[in-house]
Amino acid sequence: MVSPRPAVQALPAYRPGRNPADLAREIGVDRAVKLASNEVAFPPLPAVVQAVAAAAAETNRYPDNGAVVLTAALARRYGVEPAQIATGGGAVTLCQELAQAYTEPGTSIAFAWRSFEMYPLLAQVAGARAVQVPLVPGREGGPADTHDLDGLLAAIDDTTRLVFVCNPNNPTGTAVRRAELERFLDAVPPTTLVVLDEAYREFVTDPDVPDGIELMRGRPNVAVLRTFSKAWGLAGLRVGYLVAEDPAVAEAVRKTHVPFSVSMLAQAAAVAALTSEDEVRRRCAAVAAERERLTSALRERGLDVADSQANFVWLPVGEQAAELAGALEARAVITRPFAGEGVRVTVGAPEEDDAFLAALDAVRDGRRDGAPFR
Ligand SMILES: *Cc1c(COP(=O)(O)O)cnc(C)c1O
Repeated sequence: MVSPRPAVQALPAYRPGRNPADLAREIGVDRAVKLASNEVAFPPLPAVVQAVAAAAAETNRYPDNGAVVLTAALARRYGVEPAQIATGGGAVTLCQELAQAYTEPGTSIAFAWRSFEMYPLLAQVAGARAVQVPLVPGREGGPADTHDLDGLLAAIDDTTRLVFVCNPNNPTGTAVRRAELERFLDAVPPTTLVVLDEAYREFVTDPDVPDGIELMRGRPNVAVLRTFSKAWGLAGLRVGYLVAEDPAVAEAVRKTHVPFSVSMLAQAAAVAALTSEDEVRRRCAAVAAERERLTSALRERGLDVADSQANFVWLPVGEQAAELAGALEARAVITRPFAGEGVRVTVGAPEEDDAFLAALDAVRDGRRDGAPFR
């Protein structure tokens, strides 16, 4: 019998998220709301639909493996050289390529925890040690929901090849500010690559939350990850990119790239999306306004919700997380529980968020022991 590597055997099996149509059928309602995956609720941009339709006529050919047109458009947009950019089939693919390019057994990857669930898995697959630095309270007396950059710095040793800083952090939505991040970057040894995962950058409204691509300049051991999946509305097409100060970082990632893994449709869609940036900005502003409305509504209900700089909010309900998400699901609202920690709720369209709030109220009213979730 053949068997995979022990590290792979030990990985959890993939569990797909609930599909809203299946859930609606199962519980006998017209429609369920999905607020579980941090997608935007807007339909694809008109320019994207057009570009994908046009590109569909050429799909008998392989895509451009170097994504030359997209890379040039990104280089212009961000004021960097094309050699500083690597594209990937979603930013998660770039995370994996970074791990392949920079780690091997005996080395380590450091990151905050709780953070993006991919980080420990990609360390495990790469055979590198995952060094997890617990979050700390962002507000006095509040739950542990914010990066501890001093702790992260202290955890770096001469085996640490990569450090992921997810800013804003998934799933808590909190963000680190400019001064503390600059201090951290200045102190990290030059042999450790800091990857600023900015999947939610476009939703940031606090001017004190730094743009990683600006912080990266002059720092050869810093790279930034961005994606078209969230603000740009291309989650279903799979395309993200890395921007590095040192072109050698982008080159190392390109060397581990799975050939042709950014499809022709994804490349065409991303190029088209970049031409619609004004509309994307309007959409992000609407999401940020809705995020503030949702946050206030939750606080009015007594929930201790941190300020989010992303397109989701975090309910730090601890041990009640799985129960709360299950009860919401029974009322046709799909959220993302992290057992024992909290529930992440994507900011949806206003009517979706109202459906969530109504379900939350009903769940809290109907609790047998009468204790509110908090
Ligand atoms: C969603 C997300 C990504 C990227 O997702 P892709 O769809 O693979 O581009 C990366 N990092 C974080 C923290 C995310 O939440």
